[in-house]
Amino acid sequence: MTNEENERRSPLSPPAKVHGELPKWSAATQAIVAGRPPGEPDGPLNQPVVFASNYHAHGPVAYGRDGNPTWTALEDVIGVLEGGTAVIFASGMAAIAAVFDQVAIGGAIVLPNDGYTGTRAFASAAVAGRWELRRVDISDTDAAMSACHGAALLWVESPTNPNMDVADIPELCRAAHAEGLQVAVDNTFMTPLGQRPLDLGADLVVHSITKMLAGHSDVILGVVVAPPGTSQCDELRRRRSLGGAIPGPMEAYLALRGVRTLPLRFRQAQANAGELALRLASHPEVERVRYPGLAGDRWHDRARAQMQGFGNMIAFEVHGGVSAAEAAANSTRLIVHATSLGGIESSIERRAKWPGEQTAPSLLRLSVGCEDVEDLWADLKHALAAAGKVRRTVETPVSLTTQDQTR
Ligand code: PLP
Repeated sequence: MTNEENERRSPLSPPAKVHGELPKWSAATQAIVAGRPPGEPDGPLNQPVVFASNYHAHGPVAYGRDGNPTWTALEDVIGVLEGGTAVIFASGMAAIAAVFDQVAIGGAIVLPNDGYTGTRAFASAAVAGRWELRRVDISDTDAAMSACHGAALLWVESPTNPNMDVADIPELCRAAHAEGLQVAVDNTFMTPLGQRPLDLGADLVVHSITKMLAGHSDVILGVVVAPPGTSQCDELRRRRSLGGAIPGPMEAYLALRGVRTLPLRFRQAQANAGELALRLASHPEVERVRYPGLAGDRWHDRARAQMQGFGNMIAFEVHGGVSAAEAAANSTRLIVHATSLGGIESSIERRAKWPGEQTAPSLLRLSVGCEDVEDLWADLKHALAAAGKVRRTVETPVSLTTQDQTR
């Protein structure tokens, strides 16, 4: 800023700050500061929402389908958190589709058996005449590695939705790269605060921003992140512009606001989840709990080796089958019976009720939010008592009537 410009400012305002090189801040700080506009006098602290389809000529963007300052701010902060360059999409599924679309026709994609139903359904729907699909248990490293031979893309979800299986990401990346595959990791469950797949060797990271990143169950968005300095993001941006299904600036703004509190929400939700997983594991109505933070969990050591925490997602099965599990989901008073996850509020649902979901019929997926943990536990105990009541009814043999016996 010139002296003349400085004098035009209010006489009460101090001179504009001149920053030298900035220190290396932690992820918790970067979630708050990255992607902010430059600190110009009277400039806003936060990136405002920019509603624009058209821009004045001579700039790098020109048209609203090709770029938007609110998108850029959100991409900046997610890119910093994941350690790469981010491109946002209109939904998590749009981000996933953009990565799949990079596989040439006829190429093979290795995909987890257990994983988000939408991804599996999209792959199956889009596959006809385009790709070969090879489905594997992604936690079985040897099986996944042998499926990689001659394939183009290894798709990883870890922990998987909803079974909470953990893949050995570094080992899979090493093996896949040796075979010339790209590795993409859906990091929606862990967020970049709980796991950084690019640091573990992945080529691409995908998120449904809709979930924990945005965090308030009011926006649908997705993102792909690639290592800095690669051309992949240019190609993804080009496809986003040409495909035309672009994110709305208001959605980007809401998600940006959500990301600012991600460290607080993630810390609280994760602490709650750890406590609830422990308590669920010793509840008599619970048959099995899947949470990698439990010392006895099958994937605990693997999770500890590659994750910075264990996240907010828990899967558990109740005794008494489908009707007991449905009774539990329908009896909560605080935890919302709803399908999505990652909100500030806790939510629960029986996953196998959805067509195509291949999981245990009584498995409940619990997305733990930021409420008081004792209130959450009281609600779960209430729901499990309802499940127990149904279980006892189902298990009690019904006395046969004379009429029944003669049939
Ligand atoms: N990935 C995972 C792990 C998900 O759970 C979901 C949605 O539930 C998606 C991707 C798809 O994201 P969106 O609903 O934002 O399209």
